Amino acid sequence: MIKIENLVKIYKSKKKGSHKALNTINLTLGNKGLVFVLGKSGSGKSTLLNLIGGLDTVTEGKIIVDGNDISKFKERKFCNYRNTHIGFVFQDYHLIEELSIYDNIVLSLNLQKIDDNNDVLNALKIVDLEGYEHRLPSELSGGERQRVAIARAIIKKPRIILADEPTGNLDPVTATAILDILKDLSKECLVLVVSHNENDAYKYADRIIKLSEGEIINDYVKNNRIRSDLVIENETIVVPHDRVVTDQEIDYLNKQLQKKKIRRIAKSERKYIPFEQENIKEEFVDIQTKNLSAKNTAKLSFKFLKSKIGTIVLSSFITAVIVIVFGLAASFMTFDGGQVIKSEMDDLGINRFSVSKIINDETKTSIDTNYNFYLPLSDEDYQKFEDSKYEGNIYPIYNYTFSIRNMANASGVKESIFISNTNLFIRETAGTMIVTEDYLKNVVGGDIEWVVKSEEEKPYGIYISDYVADSIIRYSNTMRGKTYDQLLGRFKYSNGPTYKGYINGIFKSGYKEKYADIFQRYLSGEFTSSKPISKQPEFITFSNEVYSFYGMCFTYNNNFFEDLADSKNDSFIYHNRISISESTNKHGFVTGSYAYLHRSSSLEENEIILSTSKYNALFGTNYDSLNLDEFVPHEATINFTTANDYDIEKPFLSKKVIIKSLDATLLYTGKVSHSLASLLIKNTYNQSILFEGNDHLDDLFKIFDEINLIQNLSAFEGVNTMMKVVDVFTPIFLIIAVALIVGIIFTLTTFAMKMIRVKMHDIGIMKALGAKNRTMIGIFGLQLAFVSLVTCVLSTVGYYFLVGFTNTVLIKSLGKISKATQVLELNFVYFNPYIVLACIVIVLGLTFISLIIPILAIRRIEPVKIIKAKE
Ligand code: ADP
Ligand code: MG
Repeated sequence: MIKIENLVKIYKSKKKGSHKALNTINLTLGNKGLVFVLGKSGSGKSTLLNLIGGLDTVTEGKIIVDGNDISKFKERKFCNYRNTHIGFVFQDYHLIEELSIYDNIVLSLNLQKIDDNNDVLNALKIVDLEGYEHRLPSELSGGERQRVAIARAIIKKPRIILADEPTGNLDPVTATAILDILKDLSKECLVLVVSHNENDAYKYADRIIKLSEGEIINDYVKNNRIRSDLVIENETIVVPHDRVVTDQEIDYLNKQLQKKKIRRIAKSERKYIPFEQENIKEEFVDIQTKNLSAKNTAKLSFKFLKSKIGTIVLSSFITAVIVIVFGLAASFMTFDGGQVIKSEMDDLGINRFSVSKIINDETKTSIDTNYNFYLPLSDEDYQKFEDSKYEGNIYPIYNYTFSIRNMANASGVKESIFISNTNLFIRETAGTMIVTEDYLKNVVGGDIEWVVKSEEEKPYGIYISDYVADSIIRYSNTMRGKTYDQLLGRFKYSNGPTYKGYINGIFKSGYKEKYADIFQRYLSGEFTSSKPISKQPEFITFSNEVYSFYGMCFTYNNNFFEDLADSKNDSFIYHNRISISESTNKHGFVTGSYAYLHRSSSLEENEIILSTSKYNALFGTNYDSLNLDEFVPHEATINFTTANDYDIEKPFLSKKVIIKSLDATLLYTGKVSHSLASLLIKNTYNQSILFEGNDHLDDLFKIFDEINLIQNLSAFEGVNTMMKVVDVFTPIFLIIAVALIVGIIFTLTTFAMKMIRVKMHDIGIMKALGAKNRTMIGIFGLQLAFVSLVTCVLSTVGYYFLVGFTNTVLIKSLGKISKATQVLELNFVYFNPYIVLACIVIVLGLTFISLIIPILAIRRIEPVKIIKAKE
């Protein structure tokens, strides 16, 4: 039963202002019967029907359907109401074109969570469309479509069928057939038909309600008790207006006419009498919640997708391209320098490398660029490594470089230390390490095999590898020792002052066997500056081993430097490459001619010689070549604050400062020289660090960068450059990432919106049929999810194949910007399953975000607007 009380519907529109479409309607409708709503166009018929059908909200008043006040319903309740209670038949049929007749009808059941059954075929039988189930709506005539629409409405056995001008688009014959069906149905449920055809109304309706300007002006009900048949009244025969007169009756009537018993035949006008409010029995029927099952949601989703393969492919492709770019960029940005270099080092069989601290690029002077000046590493520097994740061993390498070549002729300092492009031997050792015997055993891989070893081991002596020994023999053409034996004990140069170092032993390093091939080629003169050694694949491993092992001096003595200072062995000063000169760079390091301090035997023990300019500067005198005869030596104390700086005022060593010649380099006596040597040796700093172990190298790299350490392993250079590039690109990447994410959202949203736009009409219909927003979102959400999944697959495959290519491009570009002589074919970017996973998570996440606008769009689709007939 429908009870309408004081129903008012006012449409508010910006253009037309407000319009009262229904004005205080009071109406009661029973549970059965065919009710026609008549009225001129614009009289409010559709409005009334839509309000009863729960397609629109009332402005005032109540509509109570089977005890439920639907005027208070919210969207979701309305959906359930339409779904379970109402069967709509629209003027424009509103079938879903994509679905077969069967699917169109079964949709009604599916929306009630009922799977297809024989009812569909029965319904088709009722509307006389047996055998049409596999056709598409486009293959049907208008009347057939309307019958399908009726089948769709009746299959769910609704309490009320609402038909808004169901025959409006049909020819009279077809219209009659449709009305016959509706009439039949009205025996079981209430059928409300909106029409402006009065004839149809009088022929079929049990009740006729006339509307005009939103008000009920007439409400007639068929009165079956009166004039249900032929009646003769006042010599007039009254025939009910839809009454068909039979042949026998015509015979009878003719006879009566001949007898003049009947004067005229009139059509009965009084079959309908004004409706009087009777006591229609009210029963409460609950409105049930029914939803489309997940399976059927998926089915529909894919049925709607089928015709849009092109859109799917395009959207997935565009999204996948964006995701691949994103993935590759992410691989690049998240590249783990530590891991890359670790695996590279593992491949090369290296687990040890040294780094040095040098003047950095910003503070370098032009002179500095020609040389590498090592800086001392501070305790804080060390602490950083102690505090880092690095768990390997850390060894200081002391700034005691054992000169192999006669350094009086030390032009090209850089070359003298490093292995050059045409030379595999070093000219100076890489430093001295205080180690244990176990360490050395570990490095050589077993017991130490001595080539030669001193019987008398001096505490300030050192051990060297056969490689260093070979370097000495090769370069020290002017020294006495030409054999390993001759190198033991005191080691002398022949020209210049006598400088002494003590070699306690020479051990086998194994370099000859390991690098037999490259040395063989080197000795055969294969390498030239145009064909440099550094381009040889073995070179990286070899050079690293030189700077971390072969080229090192070793001592087991923890007091090595104290003992050295006490040994009165001034050779170390020389070999430290420290001198005092007028020209130091801003860091206080010697730059000029490398004028080593000179010792003169003609000086007294405490004497030192200065140049006139220095002397004048220090003591405020003005000696020159003309007044040098008047020179008076000066008594002063000299404090050597560093190897390069001395302060005449502060007491440290008592010196008599004299001047001997105008341009003399600083000269000392042996005693002064020794004092300085002790100072220098005591202040010997560690210039390098050796790291043993390849884990958490990325952590080390960060610290190297922070304190400006350079790595001696060229493989590092590429990685290091890469890490810097990554640093530079990080903010750019973030911007790009945002752009890409926006791009993905845009593409996915555009796809979903396109799918929604083409199906806008179907969405409206399905909503009118009782599908909830949730259901529609499910259908279109699944489509989006499908595209996302295709995107994930496409992008994973694309990423897999493009990673190698990207790596090659990266290595090529790095080759151009890296300072390294050789940029290894490192795996900077590789197929990273975590990135794939992250991309998938991101795509799925963005899929949800991309659903926002489509969800809003779906919610905004008003079925009442969609189903409006084109009048
Ligand atoms: P009909 O009897 O022809 O079915 P309707 O119920 O569709 O009439 O419309 C009744 C009146 O309400 C008409 O004047 C129409 O212009 C107006 N109307 C209908 N729908 C709207 C709407 N959505 N916004 C504004 N006015 C409307
Ligand atoms: Mg209408």
